[in-house]
Amino acid sequence: MSKIVVIGSSNTDMVVKTNRFPNPGETILGGTFFMFAGGKGANQAVAAARMGGDVVLVAKVGNDIFGKQAIEGFQKEKINTSYISTDFEKASGTALIIVNERGENKIVVASGSNDTLSQEDIMKAATEIEMAEVVLLQLEIPVSSVVFAATQGLKTESKVILNPAPAQELPDEIYPNLYLITPNETEAQLLTGIEVKDDESAREAADMLLDKGVRNVIITLGARGAYFHNDYQSFFVDAPQVEAVDTTAAGDIFNGTLAVALAQKKDWRSAIELACKVASLSVTRMGAQASAPFLSEISSASD
Ligand code: ATP
Repeated sequence: MSKIVVIGSSNTDMVVKTNRFPNPGETILGGTFFMFAGGKGANQAVAAARMGGDVVLVAKVGNDIFGKQAIEGFQKEKINTSYISTDFEKASGTALIIVNERGENKIVVASGSNDTLSQEDIMKAATEIEMAEVVLLQLEIPVSSVVFAATQGLKTESKVILNPAPAQELPDEIYPNLYLITPNETEAQLLTGIEVKDDESAREAADMLLDKGVRNVIITLGARGAYFHNDYQSFFVDAPQVEAVDTTAAGDIFNGTLAVALAQKKDWRSAIELACKVASLSVTRMGAQASAPFLSEISSASD
């Protein structure tokens, strides 16, 4: 099995499903309350493990019930939790999520212990990073730690994938260390200044990311699928049409699946088709990690 090291956040998601989003200052009576394990790093780790990846998660939790429950959850998924450290000062990360009747979401994250995942914490997993086929990163931990992790991954020739979410500015030094960057349309616009609204603008934004030094770019396009671009080829992959119930973590499940496919050395098109297929299945279900499909649910058509 190919090793994937995910370095990132773990959160507990508290979700209320409602008819519509409240306006500022407005209180509305919502529907059912759900509590799910979430956090972009953890979601991507679980998605990768369920797709058959040999996953190590480097993360930081608080000394509280949420942190303990998160670790128990990862262990059930057969994720290596040896490099999850504990912050005794800060609470575990939490996210407040509102999902409307169209399956759209609004999210506020209280990062807590994710904010103290340091270079030293990452160095504890140096041997794992050295042996990894893929190192998978997102932006819910300090950017300085993400830059450091990307540099470590590059040193050891692992494929470093950055899912630059949630959207924020990045230092220029990180780009040449990235094998692949996977922004959605909003993140691509923030990183390039180009509004991704059609095929031409997707290509322009991806070109700009290549110019910054990234070797491969995938822009995810929600229900429309994804766009791949490098110096040799570019193509769109359609997402299967589904009835969306909750798109929370669609991008995470896309990235976790993609990491496994690339660690297994699938070609770009097959890897992206598989990621779209698995992510589209996840949006038909509530929750973040809870919605991540298992390999057994995916037909062998994409193998
Ligand atoms: P999120 O923030 O909701 O986790 P994201 O904005 O990071 O997601 P998207 O581009 O919305 O990422 O979605 C990632 C992938 O998930 C898409 O490339 C697509 O394959 C799948 N997907 C998302 N929404 C839908 C949908 N409504 N129908 C089918 N597939 C979808």
